[in-house]
Amino acid sequence: MAQEFKLPNLGEGVDSGDVVGVNVKPGDVVAKGGSLAEIETNKAVMDVAANFAGTITAVNIKVGDKVKPGAVIVAYDAAAASTGSAQAPAHVPDVKSADQRAVPRSGEAVAPAGLRGPAGAAPATSGQASVATQEKAGAASAPAMDLPRGLRPAITGERHHGMSPEEAATKHVVVIGAGPGGYAAAFYAADLGFQVTLVNKETKLGGVCTLRGCIPSKGLLHIAKLITEAKHASAWGVDFGSTKVDIDKVRAYKDGFVATLASGVGQVASARKVKTIQAKAQFKDAHTLTLLPGEEEDGTVSGPKPAETELKFDYCIISTGSVPAMPGPWRALKDDRIMDSTGALELKDIPKRLLVVGGGYIGLEMACVYAGLGSEITVVEFMPGLLMAADRDLVRPLQANLAKLFKSIHVSCKVEKLEPQKDGVKVTFSGEGIEPTQVFDRVLVSVGRRPVTQGLGLEATKVKVDAKGFIEHDKQQRTAEANIFVIGDIAGEPMLAHKAHAEAKVAVEALAGERSVYDVRAMPAVVFTDPELAWVGVTEQEAKDQGLDVEISRYPWAANGKAHAISRTEGVSKVIVDKKTQRILGAGVVGWEAGSMISEYALAIEMGATAEDVSLTVHPHPTLNETLLGAVDVHLGHATDIYRPKRQ
Ligand SMILES: Cc1cc2nc3c(=O)[nH]c(=O)nc-3n(C[C@H](O)[C@H](O)[C@H](O)COP(=O)(O)OP(=O)(O)OC[C@H]3O[C@@H](n4cnc5c(N)ncnc54)[C@H](O)[C@@H]3O)c2cc1C
Repeated sequence: MAQEFKLPNLGEGVDSGDVVGVNVKPGDVVAKGGSLAEIETNKAVMDVAANFAGTITAVNIKVGDKVKPGAVIVAYDAAAASTGSAQAPAHVPDVKSADQRAVPRSGEAVAPAGLRGPAGAAPATSGQASVATQEKAGAASAPAMDLPRGLRPAITGERHHGMSPEEAATKHVVVIGAGPGGYAAAFYAADLGFQVTLVNKETKLGGVCTLRGCIPSKGLLHIAKLITEAKHASAWGVDFGSTKVDIDKVRAYKDGFVATLASGVGQVASARKVKTIQAKAQFKDAHTLTLLPGEEEDGTVSGPKPAETELKFDYCIISTGSVPAMPGPWRALKDDRIMDSTGALELKDIPKRLLVVGGGYIGLEMACVYAGLGSEITVVEFMPGLLMAADRDLVRPLQANLAKLFKSIHVSCKVEKLEPQKDGVKVTFSGEGIEPTQVFDRVLVSVGRRPVTQGLGLEATKVKVDAKGFIEHDKQQRTAEANIFVIGDIAGEPMLAHKAHAEAKVAVEALAGERSVYDVRAMPAVVFTDPELAWVGVTEQEAKDQGLDVEISRYPWAANGKAHAISRTEGVSKVIVDKKTQRILGAGVVGWEAGSMISEYALAIEMGATAEDVSLTVHPHPTLNETLLGAVDVHLGHATDIYRPKRQ
């Protein structure tokens, strides 16, 4: 029989709120703790979590409604829930006793005596298949392959490289590409004793990340955030006056730290005796590269004919990365007002009207940069939402802030045509709620990235490329050619610098004969917008799609002292916990500095930590990281700084 769910109290002194998100529709099956709606009050955006498990039969609210505590917002049929756990109070986990809850602390092979549970207690498993990252050859006993890393028996004794340093010294490793994957691989291989050559086609080392990706964008985002914060400061009694941006100085500042880092890569290479060659590498066969003159990202030849035209190798690691995707007809227009991310980072000027095509992380980060510098931003996204890989409840507070920073955001909207004109680029759109033709001073096209295999001569080897253009490889990053490895963007999604770095280690250890495999379960993703959005492990959507039996808990930053002190209460921290094992499987944070905060949960997930592990970890006060503690305490039912109404 249908039951009613009433809007709980919204906090002291708050008698109503605006509905800014409705996350369920009739027919949806909702787990206890699942998000029903988001309500914005004068204090924060609050998530309204279900304190029941069941099937939604009616939804009585819509975005834009004003609602008061006690209003029936949904009706549900609890009988349709499979487990009957809907009768349990909200957010109280099924496993409650200290003994049952206790599993070995991460990193321990055996449960310790005492408060943590009976010695020898069988460690819980998380339900996620996992293999050992480093099944070292020669380890005393094979690690239990189905356990999360932290619970695998400790591997003792000498670290074993398949190859001795003496043998390694006779082998030549060539790395193609000096991005974060390539230079990390080259340096690690040198540390293991190999002779190493790093071939990079561009004049500068560092790859996309250093030269036209992570690093310059973060420097500019820092400036943009500073400008935005300075504007907010007037509300706190500090007025810095109007902002004046000297774009030439900003550009010079950005170019300065990029150049420092790029030359640092060269210095570290020579310190490690890694030979660097500027050349475009092309496979002649599975043990030989042809070296052609170097070139920049846009294809302009930039280097002299290399002194050596052929390079023999024992092992090769391909790390040629990716380039921005640009639809052919738009590229053919050859108009530099139509930019990709590389063009946008050049900061030629501050356009008055900037259109950003693509609501992914690169588009939104660059949109924040230009908004901070003073451009009027319009974002259009073909998909029905921004940042589709992230959970909607985390995107919502970000989108609410971006809506204030930008002129407009349009989803489910397509750019049909770009027509360069004298006074700007005329853009034709299709989609609801958007003026069909508009003129912009510049257009940033940020619609994805394309792996770089063209011109590599892979056909001279057995290396295979998949339908999306990524190089196929096994868990050791080994291609179909036993002595050729692949890492970074060219090896597949996610195209992130820290993934490239992690794969570099595995590839080098694998070619050294170690039994290392790539087995990362906690790959963080960060969007460095304002506020930042970060997540790690499974998302709520992935948990649903995979049929994982999880409980989801959220902690609104409106209950955090530091968030109030810095006037950033819009954040939310969220944790996804496996119901049976109590292990943390995923987490997400939206808020100021979320990108730095997420590492705590990455470690927790990688170590196989339970909600209890995090809860027992004292977090310093006052910090935003306390909200991470808060989320697990909400899950465990003992959050003290927040009131979570029990089931009526
Ligand atoms: C605007 C922007 C912001 C980003 N922000 C982030 C972020 O905040 N965090 C994050 O993790 N990631 C970020 N990324 C992604 C990150 O830059 C990439 O994931 C990372 O650079 C991939 O590293 P890689 O080693 O695979 O290749 P790349 O960095 O792409 O380097 C490849 C290198 O190979 C060289 N090369 C290519 N072909 C040849 C050849 N035939 N011979 C010789 N050399 C060759 C290239 O010249 C280049 O130097 C961002 C990307 C962009 C565009």
